[in-house]
Amino acid sequence: MAFGLFKNGDELFTEGVDLIKRKEYKKATKQFHKALDKETSNEDLSRLYIIICDLCDNDNDAAEFINAAEKINSSNVKRFQFGLTEVDSKEFALECTLMAEEIEIAGRPDSMEKGKALKELAQKYQMNVGNKPLKINEILKGETSSTGISEALVLQATAYETMGMVAVMSDPKKGAEYMQMAYNFRRQIGDSGEKDMNMMKGFSRSVKCWLCGRTVTGEGIHFVTTSSDVAPVFKEDGSVILKSSPEDNHSIYMCKPCYSAISNRSDQISRAYYDKAMEEMHRMEMRLEAEIAAVRYSK
Ligand SMILES: [Zn+2]
Repeated sequence: MAFGLFKNGDELFTEGVDLIKRKEYKKATKQFHKALDKETSNEDLSRLYIIICDLCDNDNDAAEFINAAEKINSSNVKRFQFGLTEVDSKEFALECTLMAEEIEIAGRPDSMEKGKALKELAQKYQMNVGNKPLKINEILKGETSSTGISEALVLQATAYETMGMVAVMSDPKKGAEYMQMAYNFRRQIGDSGEKDMNMMKGFSRSVKCWLCGRTVTGEGIHFVTTSSDVAPVFKEDGSVILKSSPEDNHSIYMCKPCYSAISNRSDQISRAYYDKAMEEMHRMEMRLEAEIAAVRYSK
């Protein structure tokens, strides 16, 4: 401990660099602050490292990334090494700006505008980063294979998934088209895209509601399958195109309005029974307490 007192700024700086290699960013930040207090020949680099270590510990705050981009842009350091990663300051600052935008858009509620914003951001990654590796993902997530192009494909897929989930509410066929687009982008980045494919199939499926007879499109969104005893006498003949029950005879299709009306009504009935039972229990409790008190006083 006593030796620590005699460390000079550059020794503290070197210790900070070693701590970065071990991914101990909080400790590294402390060393760089100490190095700056004692004066180090690596003053600019120390300040830069503090900014990036902060990002590593707080990687979901758009304002932090904007702040980092500004500071890195105004730094005198043009290139540096962070852990094992070689970084160009200007390019890294740009990545920080794009990341800030990504975090901000991701935080918005789903809407067609959010989908459009994601597509525009994808274009920015494609044009400004292109085939170059994303240093931010390498440093923050340990991903060495992502590039501007791969990030753009992920964002395109996310954009169409967002738009699909919004469109399906009023136009299930349109929703299915968007999910098909999302699937194509997922395939390009090497994902199975299975989730998008299943949604696309579900969104384009049409059935007839067993209860109200309405034709309804969009499985899981506008209609659901509910268990029911469907005796053979109710079985639809093979010529029926729009089925109101699956082949298994154990369930029926219900449109969301019918399904939610029944669910809500049954919730109300359950609630009424629950309230009545609680009231009864409370009354019984009071009666018992009165009886116990009466026994006590009579002694
Ligand atoms: Zn219905």
